[in-house]
Amino acid sequence: MSTKDINLSAELKKYFGFSKFKGQQEQIIRELLDRKDVFVLMPTGGGKSLCYQLPALISEGTAIVVSPLIALMKNQVDAVNGLSSDEGVAHVLNSSLNKSQTKQVMDDITAGKTKLLYVAPESLIKEEYLDFLKAVKISFVAIDEAHCISEWGHDFRPEYRNLKGIIDRIADVPVIALTATATPKVQDDIQKTLGMNNALVFKESFNRANLFYEIRPKVNVDKEIVRFINLHKGKSGIVYCLSRRKVEEFAQLLQVNGINALPYHAGLDQKTRVANQDKFLMEEVDVIVATIAFGMGIDKPDVRFVIHYDIPKSLESYYQETGRVGRDGGEGYCLAFYDPKDIEKLEKFLAQKPVSEREIGLQLLNEVVGYAETSMSRRQYLLYYFGEKFDPVKGEGAMMCDNSQNPPKLKDAAADLKKVLEM
Ligand code: ADP
Ligand code: MG
Repeated sequence: MSTKDINLSAELKKYFGFSKFKGQQEQIIRELLDRKDVFVLMPTGGGKSLCYQLPALISEGTAIVVSPLIALMKNQVDAVNGLSSDEGVAHVLNSSLNKSQTKQVMDDITAGKTKLLYVAPESLIKEEYLDFLKAVKISFVAIDEAHCISEWGHDFRPEYRNLKGIIDRIADVPVIALTATATPKVQDDIQKTLGMNNALVFKESFNRANLFYEIRPKVNVDKEIVRFINLHKGKSGIVYCLSRRKVEEFAQLLQVNGINALPYHAGLDQKTRVANQDKFLMEEVDVIVATIAFGMGIDKPDVRFVIHYDIPKSLESYYQETGRVGRDGGEGYCLAFYDPKDIEKLEKFLAQKPVSEREIGLQLLNEVVGYAETSMSRRQYLLYYFGEKFDPVKGEGAMMCDNSQNPPKLKDAAADLKKVLEM
């Protein structure tokens, strides 16, 4: 049967219960089923997983899904298994499995039951797995979070670098790479490293029209944030700080000011971290004060504000972190505090790194400075950084930033006046 004859909408309904594809999902799936390599650049929440889950479910053989985080894989496997009444449709293969569990996974794959096999790149290198995968029917390979391949991305993982060679050893099958990081540099890096220069590229707009972007000078930052949160009382929000110490201190300061806030960072014990995160998701707590450890894979649709106490290290990080507000399409306020002294601190920190890492870090930081200091539309600047043209007058969400609402000259005058009054 030609893939053109497949009624994908019916399959979508059958497995996922959705009545319509989002964005370009259907075209992406058709190309993949036609055995083309595809490269998907779509913002977080755009529906990337379905682009490989659905074709995997209706293809013969097993799709290998490479994903960087074991915790996220587990969630996805559970979700996929919930879509079908058959056993063993999705599995994870990694070192956390004991002998009999591993055997079960391999048996299910051999029997043709397993449609999606999630693996971390470091597991994929293992000879025993490689030999096994070479011998079974693979439908295609999906590389999720493909920006992990690139040092220009916000989450570089060296294990991703060798994927091309490994895939070639396993099978000659189509590859679908997916990411929510779309700077032209990262895109280029992914395509080169994966040998996907002839891939079909599907890029959706990264414009989040419902988000409001504001940068404030970092003056009286504690008070400013307390005031901002009090103006948004009862709403869900995240405050990002760079250091764990700052997270602890500031969560306390908010509590002292009567704000229902909790800290989150990788230095807290697992139990506290999970408890604090759950309280945020369950709305027992309004505000989470966190390092960047918080957020990956968290899908709370009604987060109303993200505040950056410290300016992030790159615009990708800024975009990812601010991207956690307004997922439901409702109001989303992104407020960041900027102090050139913070940039100097970050530069000092980078000075201790190896040369190549330092150079990349400094360039990324330069872009952050440019964004923080620009007097143009923040949205336009941000989208330009992602290789996207944006009309600052007519584009969707054009007025949704400080610079577009207050002509910069007036704004500067107000800031100057404030400085004078504070002296
Ligand atoms: P991404 O990986 O791009 O961040 P996900 O794959 O996690 O996004 O999907 C985000 C959300 O969108 C999920 O809750 C998913 O169920 C939902 N979703 C995906 N495709 C559709 C669709 N066609 N119709 C409705 N909801 C969808
Ligand atoms: Mg995803």
